[in-house]
Amino acid sequence: MNLAKVARRRYTEGVTPLEKLDNFTKVLNGPTIYMKRDDLLGGTSGGNKTRKLEFVMADAIKQGADTIITVGAPQSNHCRLTLAAAVKENMDCHFIIEERVPNSYKEEASGNNFLFKLLGVKSIKAVVKGTDLMAEMEALATELKKQGKKPYIIPGGASNNIGALGYVSCVEEIMSQLFDKNLQIDYIVVPSGSTGTHVGMLAGMLGVNGNIPIIGIGVNRLKDIQTEAVYTLTKTVMNDLGIRTPLQQSDVIVYDEYIGDGYSLPTDGMIEAVQMLARTEGILLDPVYTGKVMAGMIGLIRSNFFKKTDNVLFLHTGGSPALYAYENIILEKDFYTKK
Ligand SMILES: *Cc1c(COP(=O)(O)O)cnc(C)c1O
Repeated sequence: MNLAKVARRRYTEGVTPLEKLDNFTKVLNGPTIYMKRDDLLGGTSGGNKTRKLEFVMADAIKQGADTIITVGAPQSNHCRLTLAAAVKENMDCHFIIEERVPNSYKEEASGNNFLFKLLGVKSIKAVVKGTDLMAEMEALATELKKQGKKPYIIPGGASNNIGALGYVSCVEEIMSQLFDKNLQIDYIVVPSGSTGTHVGMLAGMLGVNGNIPIIGIGVNRLKDIQTEAVYTLTKTVMNDLGIRTPLQQSDVIVYDEYIGDGYSLPTDGMIEAVQMLARTEGILLDPVYTGKVMAGMIGLIRSNFFKKTDNVLFLHTGGSPALYAYENIILEKDFYTKK
């Protein structure tokens, strides 16, 4: 595997920290928890999409694009970070916003939506759940081409074989940090949403022969569908990179027990996780992704999935701007108060 052969832009200086969470570990009384701080990546409140975009935007530039079209939910970190990258590259950026929860896009909303406008999005079109999003983006691309633009479509979450390379490269970054710190990690816990992150981590781990299991915590789709989606894209990425270690079905680990009623809908476990991290480590999680993923890791610790002597690395993928759209829900009830 030689990522230097692939075109890449850089949106973060250096590497993100890999921190030991002493207080959080103590409260849970389980394995020792470490965190890869990808919430500190570049871009506006950076997160995992920043890594994927380094490869996807490089591809857009290679194709001669001057305009980006992408898609996401109202709280989409992917849309915000794509826009930030487009700004950097002097490109226009247009969004199709999918209301996965009915009427969830508000023209005048604060938080993420405010940031879309501040960063100078060219257009936002809200569509109802179930709309053919690729067809919407293609129709817009046709329109823009007539105006002489050169549009490039980025799929939801930048989760294709190109975007996933961001997390293949993250594995190399993590392995070098572990070597540097002389640290043995037994498991890595990652989000499994539009799949690019999970896929990149899995393909990368097989590519470096690192032998650390990657545990995916689902946030939207049921286990069977998610497992299949992760498996298929991982195969493609491994093939692109010429990784010869075989991918076993058992390498794809997905838990769907922490989704609750659906994508972006709050759960008590999410609220507890958000409060616990904020009140033990001063670190912000988000309600849609990392809060649920952390609820998953807490659940696994409480059900004794890990040994006490294990070292577990949690991949923090960012997303804190969404917190401001959930203020009342997060503070309504205390699930964790400092002893
Ligand atoms: C998009 C996103 C995820 C999920 O990553 P995928 O690659 O889509 O599976 C996790 N956390 C945050 C904060 C995100 O924005």
